[in-house]
Amino acid sequence: MKTKKIPYIPGDGIGPEIMNAARQVVDTAIATAYNGEVYVDWIKAKAGEPAFQETGDYLPDATMALIKAHKIAIKGPLTTPVGGGYRSLNVALRQALDLYVCQRPVKWFHGLPSPHRTPDGIDVVIFRENIEDLYAGIEYQTGTPKHLRFMQAFQAMKDDFKHIPSPAECGIGIKPISKSNSQRLVRAAIQWAIDNNRRRLTLVHKGNIMKYTEGAFMQWGYEEALQFSAQVYTHKTYQKTAIEQGQVKADEEKAQAMLDDKLWMDDVIADVAFEQLITKPQQFDVIATTNLNGDYLSDAAAALAGGVGISPGANINPTNGTALFEANHGSAQQIAGRNMANPSSLILSAAMMLTTIGWKEAADIIRNALTTTIKNKQVTFDLAAQIPDANRLGTKEFTAQIIAYIKMEEK
Ligand code: NAD
Repeated sequence: MKTKKIPYIPGDGIGPEIMNAARQVVDTAIATAYNGEVYVDWIKAKAGEPAFQETGDYLPDATMALIKAHKIAIKGPLTTPVGGGYRSLNVALRQALDLYVCQRPVKWFHGLPSPHRTPDGIDVVIFRENIEDLYAGIEYQTGTPKHLRFMQAFQAMKDDFKHIPSPAECGIGIKPISKSNSQRLVRAAIQWAIDNNRRRLTLVHKGNIMKYTEGAFMQWGYEEALQFSAQVYTHKTYQKTAIEQGQVKADEEKAQAMLDDKLWMDDVIADVAFEQLITKPQQFDVIATTNLNGDYLSDAAAALAGGVGISPGANINPTNGTALFEANHGSAQQIAGRNMANPSSLILSAAMMLTTIGWKEAADIIRNALTTTIKNKQVTFDLAAQIPDANRLGTKEFTAQIIAYIKMEEK
């Protein structure tokens, strides 16, 4: 019998409920796909509030060691206090394990509610940089000794601040974005797009305003694409050809690249990307973007296809093969313990995890069963509110329904 040990962190709030659901669904799908010859040996790992109660540590070393040892793990949402308290455990996990890609696929399927009139064909995969920018941001609060020291250190550069009427009144934020982290994120996105026969990869940035962080991300991204010139044709190359050899030549070159099935890589400024995501979401295919843009964009994209309760996510280090799968949403404390939470996001993340470890058949079974459940309007409260004549189910009943559809595959 083939066994795979997988550490799991139940998480805070609704975490334990949706983790139970995801584990049951995974176990059933694996049993169905491989006739009981394969199974997951789940190893519980502690983090968040329960870990603190038991060990005095929100993120015990033992948990980090478990994930490092097994490389593949899954987690429920962890609560982060706003405006003070400890730094986000989610961010700490991503940084400590160097999980530099946050991959968030958003795909609309029949039956899912959408604010869009024609959601058919929405299928976009967002690669969000997961280590720096917002996640490595340094902030100084006004009136603190550190803020004062910062202002003193920058006295020699006071001309840079002259357009700010009263710097002492301003909270200071620093947004670090590096070439190496930008390029490895873009490299992962390009490689994934090529491996999965995607047609377009778009760099999303705010480089018109933040030239040396967001703009640099775009420049470095295009530079990275040069490593893939046999498989990728970029807007940058197109522009260069147009300037050097004329528009007709550039159009011919692009047409040939598309005939050769090359990946088309372009860039869109973040505000325009949001506008286009809402008006023409089907135009997007794969997006590679900085951390803050990716945060906003992935929830906005998720809203087009059922919301954050259904869109999955993974934090990945493609270089060493470590991956931590998770729901996109938070711990939703207000509905915790009430059998209300939608476990779909974590269930679909678990399906991504199974694909990653090579158990694609089980992953497909899960996706099919979940799709059928939703198509039949058997949904949790968050989706029921948006689907006419929906049959509103609790977390447990919704999970049982998915499992019932999986078991039908056996017959
Ligand atoms: P949230 O995602 O927990 O909740 C936002 C809204 O969506 C709420 O109305 C909630 O009830 C609803 N919702 C979320 N998940 C749902 C589900 N599965 N089914 C049905 N409804 C669902 O966001 P928040 O309130 O901003 O954050 C709560 C806590 O979670 C915060 O401490 C935040 O830092 C943390 N958080 C953690 C993660 C993570 O672990 N990766 C991600 C986001 C937020």
